[in-house]
Amino acid sequence: MDKKYYITAAIPYVNGLPHGGHALEFVQCDAIARYQKLLGYEALLISGSDENGLKIVQAAEEKGFSPKQLADKNTKAFRDLVKLLNVRIDVWRRGSDRKLHWPGTWKLWKICEKRGDIYKKNYGGFYCVGCEDFYTKKDLVDGKCPEHLIEPEWVEEENYFFRLSRYQNQIERLVASEKLSIIPTTRKREALAFMKDGLQDFSISRSRERAKQWGIPVPGDPNQVVYTWFDALNIYQTAVGWGFDERLWKKWWPADLHVIGKGILRFHAVYWIGMLLSAELPLPRSILVHGYLTSGGHKMSKSLGNVVDPFKVVEEYGADATRYYLLREIPTHGDGDFTFRRFKQLYAADLANGLGNIISRIAKLCENSGFTFAPDLPPGFRSEVVKHMESYRLDLALAEIWKKISDVDTLIEQQRPWELSGKTLKSVLTELVAHIRQIGFELQPFLPDTASAVLKLFSGPKISAAKPLFPRL
Ligand SMILES: [Zn+2]
Repeated sequence: MDKKYYITAAIPYVNGLPHGGHALEFVQCDAIARYQKLLGYEALLISGSDENGLKIVQAAEEKGFSPKQLADKNTKAFRDLVKLLNVRIDVWRRGSDRKLHWPGTWKLWKICEKRGDIYKKNYGGFYCVGCEDFYTKKDLVDGKCPEHLIEPEWVEEENYFFRLSRYQNQIERLVASEKLSIIPTTRKREALAFMKDGLQDFSISRSRERAKQWGIPVPGDPNQVVYTWFDALNIYQTAVGWGFDERLWKKWWPADLHVIGKGILRFHAVYWIGMLLSAELPLPRSILVHGYLTSGGHKMSKSLGNVVDPFKVVEEYGADATRYYLLREIPTHGDGDFTFRRFKQLYAADLANGLGNIISRIAKLCENSGFTFAPDLPPGFRSEVVKHMESYRLDLALAEIWKKISDVDTLIEQQRPWELSGKTLKSVLTELVAHIRQIGFELQPFLPDTASAVLKLFSGPKISAAKPLFPRL
């Protein structure tokens, strides 16, 4: 089948448990994948575990685990969250998978090496374990990593380097021309700005000693392990067969869309593209960059006590209510905020009242009327919804659906079907049922369980009242 759509969620570090930001990204990816399927595409959504960093080694040591034990435990938590959110991830590739991931990492390394893009040199820099990256003095703010606000340690060792500088012009051209599309444009400009001062070659290995023997050995050099970013980015390829199933890889690669958080933009828009250019492999088509999820207007942090546990939210309010909040309230292209106060507001106004209300009213009217309805299915998404999905504004697509919900509400008030009978009532109810089916159809990518309940309830010929989809809190 030619109509394929390959979408990737970022590969999370599994040094800790999943947080709200991961939940946000998973549901965004899932909504896009489900939408593509409804358009008739064969869609594949993948993610995986980034396990090979020093960060894992350190976090494991602190907890008294081996790196493998910690990675197993946290990978399970990530996959549990995915399931709880009703997100369908087709492949979850782990960086520690010696059969399905390591061969692909070696394959990519060897190709880049053959092209003359990998060389060894002595290097010193300020290393932030949180970022798994080197900084120069001028990158630091008051001597600290700008992202983690901790003082990085000075590390000096012999590493392998990737000749990123060689691809500067090519990458700039790709991004500027939108051959590689970066969404939204603010992030595209940010990627271009990053390249403006000139790209530096970057280190793609760590000494085996510093990595405490954890990680993928560099081909032909047992004293070095592959830098976690070089290896984790390549999960996008090994998830679809790179290194072990050429036919499968050819079917899916390149990715149609990488979905990432704004903090890892340069790894995707620059480093990853450089690696693929070096290996002369097809390039991903687009990168969608979402923002951060704050809590009560602040960055979530343990010390502020404002960390939102996505498991708790789903357990209390259900997958669809959580998905609704994340997809509607958080602008797909920017930062967004989570508070329980706002969650409950939105739940009451849009789900229990807005959607829930028209469903139960119309179902009840249909039941009381005793009429039967032809099981007509909507032809597809309305163009207003399509427009927003094409620009990856899931929040606006949902707003469009809720506009329809409110229009239907107004229509009920205007037509007053409870005062009608006979043919007039039948035609008013038939129109209302068609609207509800359209809404049910369009909800499928966003609130899959709710959508399927709505479509089932209104599938006809007999329509009967049902218990509320979103009980009042
Ligand atoms: Zn850092």
